[in-house]
Amino acid sequence: MTLAIGVDVGGTKVAAGVVDEEGRILAKLKRSTPAASPARTEQAIADVVTELLTGHQDRITAIGLGAAGFVDSARATMLFAPNLAWRDEPLKQRVEERLGREVVVENDANASAWAEARFGAARGHRDVMLVAVGTGIGASIIIGGELYRGRWGIAGEPGHFRVVPDGRLCGCGNRGCWEQYSSGNALVAEAREFARRTPEGAMRLLQLGGGRPEGISGPEITQAATEGDPAALRCFQTVGGWLGQGLADLAAILDPACFVVGGGVSEAGDLLIDPARAAFERALTGRGHRPYAEIKVAQLGQDAGIVGAADLARQTTAPQTTAPSSPSSGPPGPGAFMRSTSTTNPATKAATAQNTANPDSDQCAAVATTR
Ligand SMILES: [Zn+2]
Repeated sequence: MTLAIGVDVGGTKVAAGVVDEEGRILAKLKRSTPAASPARTEQAIADVVTELLTGHQDRITAIGLGAAGFVDSARATMLFAPNLAWRDEPLKQRVEERLGREVVVENDANASAWAEARFGAARGHRDVMLVAVGTGIGASIIIGGELYRGRWGIAGEPGHFRVVPDGRLCGCGNRGCWEQYSSGNALVAEAREFARRTPEGAMRLLQLGGGRPEGISGPEITQAATEGDPAALRCFQTVGGWLGQGLADLAAILDPACFVVGGGVSEAGDLLIDPARAAFERALTGRGHRPYAEIKVAQLGQDAGIVGAADLARQTTAPQTTAPSSPSSGPPGPGAFMRSTSTTNPATKAATAQNTANPDSDQCAAVATTR
């Protein structure tokens, strides 16, 4: 079995792992990111990769980086990274110079979505949208088993889709963006506003927040809701409701088989997903006469970026230590897991067969449409 290294480069940490063909992490390392210096960040990436290569050297066939920022369509240059000093930074070239090996660069959310579709909550599905509900909303799109990156590499920013004309002011400068109504920030704003307006109804929230509305944050709201506190449950109803309505709008455009909800707020599980699913089914155009996409919580947690970056690199990098693929099939194309796994090696072929046999697969969706 071949191995690949995946590196998840965020604004605060560089996490990397050795990943096998089944998406299992065999070894893992974490360093803080010297985010202010592009050169030192690249050195930190090269250092963790070098350390992981030791001991696995001859079995590692690919190295992938999932980085937090806008990756250009050639997947070589970081155009912009909100939390790192990269501006038009030729990341691929710089890291390859330090390592003397090919690396594959991808946006970190795309890497996570890829991992969820290959090995996690959306395993077996070919049309998947990952919606990460954290401070704001991020997203990634997989269509027909391939990542959809857009012409310039920047597709998948539905957090700034306007859901309320002239609504709440957003950090992007527009008003009424979806993430102003459905995100960690929106959840906290909802709870604080309620506690200010109706303190007698928000006693548990205020107690957990140290007596002040400003002391209430995400973990307190989740704790109160888990205890059954009606005010906290109402906040999840509101934010989950906006989430479901937004997903219905996305289904109107993309018609995916499965939405995977990730990000910090998704850790609340059914508290968020139940109202989202109810609102989705109420808002979906043609409801009652079409199959409903699944809405599932992400399964791979913080490891998704590592697993996805490694697997994408494996799919993209031509095999170095394994037998070459047959001349007629050619090298696997970038990001085409369903197509490329069927032309690589018996091990991944078995994985594909497993996916097909999985009751979660698109075959089920096809059956559902005929009901
Ligand atoms: Zn916005």
